[in-house]
Amino acid sequence: MRAGYRAARLEELAGEIRAHGGCGFEPCETCTQLVPGEGPADAELFFVGEAPGAQEDKQGRPFVGAAGRLLDQLLESIGLRRPDVFITNVLKARPPKNRDPRPAEVAHHWPWLEEQLDLVRPALIVPLGRHALERFAPGEKISEVRGSLLERDGRRLFPLLHPAVALYARERRQELLDDIGRLPAVVAQAGGSGH
Ligand code: URA
Repeated sequence: MRAGYRAARLEELAGEIRAHGGCGFEPCETCTQLVPGEGPADAELFFVGEAPGAQEDKQGRPFVGAAGRLLDQLLESIGLRRPDVFITNVLKARPPKNRDPRPAEVAHHWPWLEEQLDLVRPALIVPLGRHALERFAPGEKISEVRGSLLERDGRRLFPLLHPAVALYARERRQELLDDIGRLPAVVAQAGGSGH
């Protein structure tokens, strides 16, 4: 697939996600807007969070609240900026009162994530927190596999704690910094993306 096509299709897909509705799933029906995610078609790193929160729901962009600011700092700590990476969520619509996403809701949105992944073909997928990890590596515990390389279904995963859990806990924040500090070496080892 040519780079130009992949970027154009990503944009088109984002438009389809934003236009989605009428399915009867609670988050799709109650959110202000769906949040497709964003990033370059040739991103080596593909971050996947849980679901939009209040700020994301309002602005239509992923990780723009407090957890997003911490994610920006984590990226900076390894010399990256947000436009260098792709960022999205397993669920593209904010669940009411920020409740946990339900498995059927995540399954409902999964084809969008699959297509985003097929288009970007990143070197590494970074599931943030247990909800994203469960979708890519069912049964694994985030506390046990965080900061390490996993392979599932031909995909390379590098799970991290969700930044929201590190917002008010200094030890968790340090764990996140230590884990993401290993990311550049792991990307090099993973051998770059499939472009
Ligand atoms: N938390 C998430 O998991 N995703 C976002 O987009 C924002 C906060």
